[in-house]
This record gives sequence, C-alpha cells and structure tokens, in this order.
Amino acid sequence: MSSDNGDDSEHANNDTSSDMPPTSLKVDPARASTLIQNIAQIHSRISQTCKTQSRTQPPRLVAVSKLKPATDILALHQPPSSATENTSIPAQTHFGENYVQELLQKSQLLPKSIKWHFIGGLQSNKCQQLARDVSNLWAVESVDSDKKAKLLDKGRGQRNENSEDTTDKTEGLRVFVQVNTSGEESKSGVEPKSAELKSLCKLIRDDCQNLKLQGLMTIGAIARSKATTAETENEDFVSLRDNRDWLAQELGIDGAELELSMGMSEDFEGAIAQGSDEVRVGSTIFGERPPKSEAKVLENAEEGKT
Ligand SMILES: *Cc1c(COP(=O)(O)O)cnc(C)c1O
Repeated sequence: MSSDNGDDSEHANNDTSSDMPPTSLKVDPARASTLIQNIAQIHSRISQTCKTQSRTQPPRLVAVSKLKPATDILALHQPPSSATENTSIPAQTHFGENYVQELLQKSQLLPKSIKWHFIGGLQSNKCQQLARDVSNLWAVESVDSDKKAKLLDKGRGQRNENSEDTTDKTEGLRVFVQVNTSGEESKSGVEPKSAELKSLCKLIRDDCQNLKLQGLMTIGAIARSKATTAETENEDFVSLRDNRDWLAQELGIDGAELELSMGMSEDFEGAIAQGSDEVRVGSTIFGERPPKSEAKVLENAEEGKT
C-alpha cells in the first residue's frame, strides 16, 4: 500500500499534520523493549500456526491499544533502535481502539502513518464524527445497523470534502459488519444468516459510496474462546466463515472478496486455523488494561496546571 507519500509536509502549518510525533511523547526504552518482545512472540506464534496450516498469507495483525497510553503505540510504530536489536519484526502499523474520544485524541497525537481500526461498540450518535474526524481511520469493524452505516458514509463524505487527512480520498472507508455468532444478549452484532445481515451488506455495497464492505467480524463467547486451541474448532469462527460463504452466495460475489476479522489474545491461533484474515490482539502485547476511569492517553501529563 502506498499511502505513506508524505509529500505535503511543506504545507504543514501545525504539529499534527506532520509525520513526526510531538516531542512530548517520550518512549521509555525499557517499555519499548518489552512491547517489541511481546509482539515478536505473537508474530512467531502466527507464523508457526500458518506453517502448520500450510498457509502462505499470514493474517493482518491489529494491535489493540485501547486504554493504553499513546507512548505504547509509538513504541511499536517507531521503535527506538535499542528495542529492535535482536528482532527483525516489521514496525506495527495497524492499531485497534474501542472508544471514539480516545481514538480522536490518539489520532491527533500520533503519526499519520498509523492505520486506525475502530473495533468497539458503536453508538449511532458518534458515527459521523468518527468517520469525519479521526485522521487515517482505516476500518470500522463493528457496524451492525443501516443507520450506523449511513452515518459513517455521511461522515466519510464530509471528511473527503474538507479535511487534511492524508489518506487517499478515493479510497472508501473499510467496514466490517459485526455478526453476533454466539447469540449472547450482551454482544452487539447482527443475527447470523439473517435478512438483516444481507440487506445491511447490500446497503453498504450499493448505496454507501464512501464505504467499502471489507468483510465480517465476530468477538465470540468467552468460554469458547478460552477453550480454543489451534486443533479444536471454535463454533464462533466456524459460524463466521459459514456466514461469509452464505453472504457471498446471496450477494452473488466471490467469497474471497470478504475478509474474516476474528481471533483475540486467547484464541487467535484457533482463528487462523479457521481461516481468519485479521486477528485483533491486545492484552498479550500490552498487558492487562487499566479500568477505563484510570486510563490515560498521556502518561505523564501535567494535569490540573493552574
Ligand atoms: C479488546 C478487544 C480485543 C482485544 O482483546 P484481548 O483479549 O486483549 O486480545 C479484540 N477485539 C475486540 C472487539 C475488543 O474489544
């Protein structure tokens, strides 16, 4: 992908439109080493699984950075050379976030070369802002209604008209439709193999000119997730794959056009074995998350300065 042509830096008139992170973000070298080692482990587990499955194309790895400070993201995206001495892993580009305000703040602070994924529960009243104001938003993975799709489409259109976002404006905002494969009351997502799933995907493809239907996403049941290994079948992953095949047939398209976003820390190897195109891994890279009330985007920010 050639979206990193930072050729408009001459016209930059403020810090946020340049590709350099603000100097206030100081990456701690020890923390960077830990994170690099953690993500290197994930890379090696992914390639090991691909090898056993005779898969040539590894899935995309989205590093889920919700509730973690901006410096953790920077440490993986632009690691200090001291942290990468013993590894050959690529700089991490794709990061996943769950909260619109937090993502907005991070996207303003961090380099524009990051590709952001919104993966959290989506509220209709935040859709337009999300698509319009988050620079370099690469995908929204939790779309589950016509209303939200239309509002994302509208927001993306507004962004195309007047923002300084460096992403190609002809490129549609990628969306995944979330499917509630486990049928749990607490989970978002549309019902598997439903008329609603079909009509939502049709709407995105036919009527939302600023969106691109990238595929389907599921979270799945925790219990099934914990029981998942590369050898056992996870019903949620089997279901998502079935839904993809069903949908492709219903829409008269090639199933290979639709990606499967499935697999998290507990179960990504099993998801890859079931054909995942994208895994979303958080706590195994970044460690346990703080409660939302204690999370800080800027770790050492001087607060309440008067
Ligand atoms: C938090 C989150 C993840 C990452 O979960 P981990 O178990 O920390 O890897 C992945 N996907 C979604 C939708 C999430 O909300």
